[in-house]
Amino acid sequence: MNLWQEYLRPTNLLQALKAFAEASGPILPIAGGTDLLLDLEQGRHSPVHTLLDVTSIKEMTALEVRGDELFVGGAVPVNRIVLDPLAGAHAQALTEACNLIAGPQVRNVATLGGNVAHALPAADGTIALLALNAQAEVAGISAQAAVPGGDSLAVRRMPFKELFLGPGKSSLKHGQELLVGFYLPLSKANQASCFKRIMRPQGVALPIINLAIWLERANDVIRQIRIAVGPGGPTPWSGTEAEKALLGKPLNDETFNTALEALLAQVGFRSSARRASSDYRRHIVSGLFKDVLETAWNRAE
Ligand SMILES: Cc1cc2nc3c(=O)[nH]c(=O)nc-3n(C[C@H](O)[C@H](O)[C@H](O)COP(=O)(O)OP(=O)(O)OC[C@H]3O[C@@H](n4cnc5c(N)ncnc54)[C@H](O)[C@@H]3O)c2cc1C
Repeated sequence: MNLWQEYLRPTNLLQALKAFAEASGPILPIAGGTDLLLDLEQGRHSPVHTLLDVTSIKEMTALEVRGDELFVGGAVPVNRIVLDPLAGAHAQALTEACNLIAGPQVRNVATLGGNVAHALPAADGTIALLALNAQAEVAGISAQAAVPGGDSLAVRRMPFKELFLGPGKSSLKHGQELLVGFYLPLSKANQASCFKRIMRPQGVALPIINLAIWLERANDVIRQIRIAVGPGGPTPWSGTEAEKALLGKPLNDETFNTALEALLAQVGFRSSARRASSDYRRHIVSGLFKDVLETAWNRAE
């Protein structure tokens, strides 16, 4: 059985978005296909007529500094992020997350955009991007009715969190919009990040729990901090109460314990049949939180 009837490989955004508008049946973007092809094959996705391959779209394959931000294209394979010196310098948590996704074969084709668009609350790249305060760039078509054939690109930026509606549900307009890429602030002095996860031995799929922290130190206290935990809720989750507990404080046992209490009071771990119970996640998060926080703190010195 064919999983699709037509396969398109546009080379720029306008071509891709016009293909959406002109599709004669259900159409879906495909990048590495490491999530999508399994979903189609195993009947977890409604049938599709056309697959639109985004991996040759030039606007989506860049990884570069733009002004005071790092741009990572949605179609950049995660292994390229692992090896890229700019990503290593400005987005260490993202590099670490990408290096833990699946195994080497999957990492060579799986993209950051696909990781995010799948909208899972514990996807590794997604959790790192949340802690790094990413903004998403999304493109659609703006129909200019007055000008015949005058379709043009409508590109907008949105806060990363607004991409997620629930487990597996993104706010992207399906068959109309593409995730072009992500903008991250460049790293400055005394700022650092870290990502780690807890996983079954030999495991290559989503973790039991993952955690990313970005922070800035000043005069031996935490000046700014962002904490992201997966799966801390139905969408990628920020530990805002733990962040408040740590702001303006030095890192020591007392401040850590107060922050841990705040995190546990706010987080919504669920029990999942294949990975872990909520109780187990609550138990193991303390060690992971301490480890990631201390690593980011030491790196920011
Ligand atoms: C063996 C195995 C192990 C894995 N391990 C991990 C793991 O450890 N951690 C982890 O986080 N994930 C893991 N995954 C999941 C998967 O590999 C990643 O989420 C990957 O980053 C998905 O990217 P992709 O390019 O393959 O997406 P695809 O499968 O091509 O697409 C996924 C979804 O996103 C949509 N999409 C893709 N690109 C765009 C875009 N630019 N704009 C809009 N929509 C888009 C597609 O239509 C589809 O709905 C694993 C998968 C496998 C098969």
